[in-house]
Amino acid sequence: MRVEIIPCLQDNYSYLIIDETNNTACVVDPSEALPIIDFISNKNINLKYILNTHHHFDHIGGNKDLKKKYNLSVVGFKGDKYRIPEIDILVEDNEIWKADNFEAKIFHIPGHTKGHISFFFHKDKFVFTGDTLFSLGCGRIFEGTYQEMFNSLNKIKNLPKDTKIYCGHEYTLQNSKFCIKHDSNNLNLKKKISKINNKIKNNLPTVPSTMEEELECNIFLRANNLESFSKLRDLKDNF
Ligand code: ZN
Ligand code: FE
Repeated sequence: MRVEIIPCLQDNYSYLIIDETNNTACVVDPSEALPIIDFISNKNINLKYILNTHHHFDHIGGNKDLKKKYNLSVVGFKGDKYRIPEIDILVEDNEIWKADNFEAKIFHIPGHTKGHISFFFHKDKFVFTGDTLFSLGCGRIFEGTYQEMFNSLNKIKNLPKDTKIYCGHEYTLQNSKFCIKHDSNNLNLKKKISKINNKIKNNLPTVPSTMEEELECNIFLRANNLESFSKLRDLKDNF
């Protein structure tokens, strides 16, 4: 399996997961259809599934047009069946979704929205975290509670350390400024920041990150109780 990063809108990332044995593919959170169509046109890629982490427009905006153009199925959380356009396959917490050679464990991770999920490709060790876990940050709490978001991040924290993390937005540089402000002696964070700066300078995405790096550097994962997590989340909202 190969993951291609497709920048969309201002700072969104959609991801194409390509099975190189048969050229079938899934797209995660297509914000818009055109960049996806541009990427796969003239390539021998059979786009079969859309995987949506949550219902926000910048994650589902391409569903309708992509479904019209390709003969594909839309996979999303059962509880969001009325909010995810064109949804076909309903998945729930802890289910293993399997289709063709794709296999992902579904985690329900509410907080940003009530129906947010992540797709953990356990055999390949990559996870798509949408707007729940970002590199060096976490999503804003729109529909859920601090407790829900804290629990959701704790679920993700238990993934293997070498899991690659593909998140929904390129927010890493801005997030890094918040982390270093509140964790100024963290040497791993300093190392990560110089890596990030290099990538940004060369116009490269800062994703994927890894679970190990996030555990060492992401201040929201380092918060070990609900109180300190909530405090950080409030500070970040006004950063
Ligand atoms: Zn969102
Ligand atoms: Fe988003």
